[in-house]
Amino acid sequence: MNRELDAVVVGSGPNGLAAAVTLARAGLAVQVLEAQETIGGGARTLGLDLAGSAEGVVHDLCSAVHPMAWASPFFEAFDLGSRGVELLAPDVSYAQPLDGGRAGIAYHDLDRTVDRLPGADGAAWRSLLGPLSAGWQDVVALALGDKRTVPHRLLRPAGAATVARFAAAVLEQGSAAAWGRRFASDEASALLTGVAAHAITPLPSLAGAGTALLLASLAHAPGGWPLPRGGSGSIVAALVEDLRAHGGEVVTGHPVRTRADLPPARAHVFDTAPGVVADVYADRLATGAARALGRFRHGDAAAKVDLVLSGPVPWAEPEVGRAGTVHVGGTRAEMSRAESEVAAGRHAERPMVLASDPSVVDPARAVGGLRPLWTYAHVPAGSTRDVTEDVVAQIERFAPGFRDVVVGSRCVPAAQMSRHDESYVGGDIAGGAVTMWQMVARPTPRPDPYAVGLEGVYLCSASTPPGPGVHGLGGWYAARRVLRREFDVREPPSLAPR
Ligand SMILES: Cc1cc2nc3c(=O)[nH]c(=O)nc-3n(C[C@H](O)[C@H](O)[C@H](O)COP(=O)(O)OP(=O)(O)OC[C@H]3O[C@@H](n4cnc5c(N)ncnc54)[C@H](O)[C@@H]3O)c2cc1C
Repeated sequence: MNRELDAVVVGSGPNGLAAAVTLARAGLAVQVLEAQETIGGGARTLGLDLAGSAEGVVHDLCSAVHPMAWASPFFEAFDLGSRGVELLAPDVSYAQPLDGGRAGIAYHDLDRTVDRLPGADGAAWRSLLGPLSAGWQDVVALALGDKRTVPHRLLRPAGAATVARFAAAVLEQGSAAAWGRRFASDEASALLTGVAAHAITPLPSLAGAGTALLLASLAHAPGGWPLPRGGSGSIVAALVEDLRAHGGEVVTGHPVRTRADLPPARAHVFDTAPGVVADVYADRLATGAARALGRFRHGDAAAKVDLVLSGPVPWAEPEVGRAGTVHVGGTRAEMSRAESEVAAGRHAERPMVLASDPSVVDPARAVGGLRPLWTYAHVPAGSTRDVTEDVVAQIERFAPGFRDVVVGSRCVPAAQMSRHDESYVGGDIAGGAVTMWQMVARPTPRPDPYAVGLEGVYLCSASTPPGPGVHGLGGWYAARRVLRREFDVREPPSLAPR
């Protein structure tokens, strides 16, 4: 800890590591300080000591499914593939089981999705998502940009047309008056709403619709909704290897609570909740800047349930078992009701549950006849409830006999999520409430969303644009500003493997 540092990054999540890699590749001496004993924040894959579990079964602690990693311009430049990270896209990107053995199925292949949807809903799905998935790079430029500059490709006529389509679709699917008009069947309407529910926000809403349209477009785009072979931790491992190869280091078990915890450096970059910066610099932040950070709002929450199964989930509709991600929430109306309950601070009787069995695409994740099942349920912020039974009951409803294959489980209630990653304040896994305002103006409406109003101090976490997800873009965008402002480096370094 005695070496002279140019930059200190607080937090080793994907954004912190993306920032650290970018700064180290520009030739700076970089140190990452991580509160936990393990590196990687929301992208760790660990063996958990679950009753009934077998040695060798590993679980994704937070993120598991990575449409935003393959679509991210940062990871494209970093070239995950050539670093041995295999992103495995299932044939079925996501599925929505319904009562009576019915299901909406979003295949990676748009045509198969359209063919399976009932009646005119196939054509309606194509007209909504076909142009957006064909223009996915423009959708990514719009939704995963820094929300302050206009990406060049959006100024092309094709880019501008995608922006107009995306905006019209957000208005349609985000408004109570219009969202029911497009689809007649439960299958199609629930299929899209299950994706909107990722936002953990009342539905319909503009922020939920934006989330749905980004993720649903990527489901039919080249990379689909992939799971990394071996788990999300393979992404972290690739980032850390590159950081170390460029002289950077990560110090674990080092929470930053005050300035005394920070070694001197020209730049301090926080991959943390905004509240950490407000606390650490409470005596130095101007009143206006402190107030702006204080106005930042965290959102409702997720409670995680990791399960160990003795066999595949016995979904009533077998095609659901081919999906990398299953949205378990019933019909559009049921999911909307459940999300409203959560927004009102109550537990839904039938909560929105997300589930992923990685062995669907990565058979080696099943060890000795046992497999992990990654799930979480939406709950009010700060909930202390153990939701294991809620999750099991929701899945059992669409997969009779599910209980019989569960051999082990562990719940991390929302209130305890911050014990393994303190950025998930009260169980808010999105780094801040997903409202339209906070998706554009997070963490504050400053012209530079990564600057906090103090020289040399920056935020780069999911609480900055473009928001939640394992894309590394907050870190990359912030690091480029740090290089320009603090070190007068105008040309960002190449991220290509050497
Ligand atoms: C249950 C769950 C499921 C998810 N599923 C997905 C998914 O499938 N796909 C997807 O793309 N995204 C998913 N996400 C969201 C995704 O994990 C996050 O958006 C992403 O990890 C954010 O990256 P980050 O680097 O900003 O922060 P984080 O990954 O949260 O990392 C922040 C790091 O900073 C450290 N830290 C915080 N405060 C301090 C401090 N004061 N001092 C030192 N260190 C500190 C933390 O310990 C942590 O390591 C999920 C999240 C959760 C919790």
